Amino acid sequence: MGGYSTVLEQIEEETRPLAGRGEVAQYIPELAGVRADQFGMAVVTLDGTVHACGEARVPFSIQSISKLFSLTLAFTCVGDALWQRVGREPSGTAFNSLVQLETEKGIPRNPFINAGALVVTDVLCTRFVNPETALVEFVRRLSGNATLDYDLRVARSELDTAFRNRAMAHFMRSFGNLHNPVDDVIDAYCRHCAIRMDCVDLARAVAFLANGGVNPWTGERIVSESSAKRLSALMLTCGTYDAAGDFAYRVGIPCKSGVGGGIVGHIPGELGLCVWSPALEATGNSLAGSVALERFTTLTGRSLF
Ligand code: GLU
Repeated sequence: MGGYSTVLEQIEEETRPLAGRGEVAQYIPELAGVRADQFGMAVVTLDGTVHACGEARVPFSIQSISKLFSLTLAFTCVGDALWQRVGREPSGTAFNSLVQLETEKGIPRNPFINAGALVVTDVLCTRFVNPETALVEFVRRLSGNATLDYDLRVARSELDTAFRNRAMAHFMRSFGNLHNPVDDVIDAYCRHCAIRMDCVDLARAVAFLANGGVNPWTGERIVSESSAKRLSALMLTCGTYDAAGDFAYRVGIPCKSGVGGGIVGHIPGELGLCVWSPALEATGNSLAGSVALERFTTLTGRSLF
């Protein structure tokens, strides 16, 4: 698909003027200082060809994109037993909302809202002595970049201000849906969110989902073909906050976003991709990134549908 480089050039030209529109996430102090007008995008096809534009090699805080990797890793540990503790429905509420937890007895709606990711992190805390290292190593394997790590300053910044996430964790613990000490789970969760990656490495790291669950760079099976399908379905229905319906309509591929301004996605059988621009629309998704993805599936004629 040699045409992808030309498509990315066109998208950068069209979308660059939007970079900086919207708001950079303020509630984690270390994120608030990121320059808002940056824009990068990368597409990696399953034969390893990289197409990239703009600031595609500038590392950023992956934030909630880590929820895709932690879910995958937890799923490899406990399989379907996970669904006794986390649902699979869109939440219809903000990613950090507490309201549903009360009526739904501490079972979060899905693994991509914060409460759900905290339960997923709890699974990793039970399974691994060092859950933060386990996830970093997992992402290194998926991307093929052995130098990836989390940013301690971002992790500390989030740890200092994680009042809402702590509240959720305590609440779920009161329902028996958190098995490890709240501080341990929050610590691992914040470090996972603080992993720094660039668009190229992220596009490479999600490519196993496009490749039926097999890491295309090593041949290692990460999850079964059926699990890759199910993880992708969750991305499509729950991966972009409360805008997942709109995303399916506008973009039409499985995506996962983060408040650092990154959005990953993939087209089954073809490619992994990532776009990054730090300023967010009200839903929490990157404003320029969302437009870029919509243009990508429109210009290439590639989507699920
Ligand atoms: N670390 C962020 C939080 O827990 C992640 C939010 C996100 O990217 O959606 O609030």
